[in-house]
Amino acid sequence: MVVICPRCGQEGYVEILRRPSERSYLYVTHIVVEDGKKRRKKHYIGPVGGYENVEMFLDLGLRSFHEIDYLEIALKAVRRIVEKAVETCSSGDPRCGEKRAEALKKLETLSQRIDDLKRKVIEIGTE
Ligand SMILES: [Zn+2]
Repeated sequence: MVVICPRCGQEGYVEILRRPSERSYLYVTHIVVEDGKKRRKKHYIGPVGGYENVEMFLDLGLRSFHEIDYLEIALKAVRRIVEKAVETCSSGDPRCGEKRAEALKKLETLSQRIDDLKRKVIEIGTE
């Protein structure tokens, strides 16, 4: 399967290294030509079970880790929190209240952390 490697943004092939009785590991293999010779270059992606994390990044619209726009990622991730609550409530799910409370708590926590970070930035260079 040809994929866009999340590490370098180049096309490559998915390879899974299976080790019996151990976790399996996911790589993207690139064919590179060096001094006229074809060589395989592997980029480690992560354990197979942990691939959901990579997929989450891809799902956030990132083609590669080099294209990361942190503000966009942060906003998309925050919207996810809200969307979960909206989905639950719009489907008439009885857990609506619970999901709303959860979303509000997460947003409140986030807001406090952002305030902490703002203070940190303001303090830069004033010590
Ligand atoms: Zn790569």
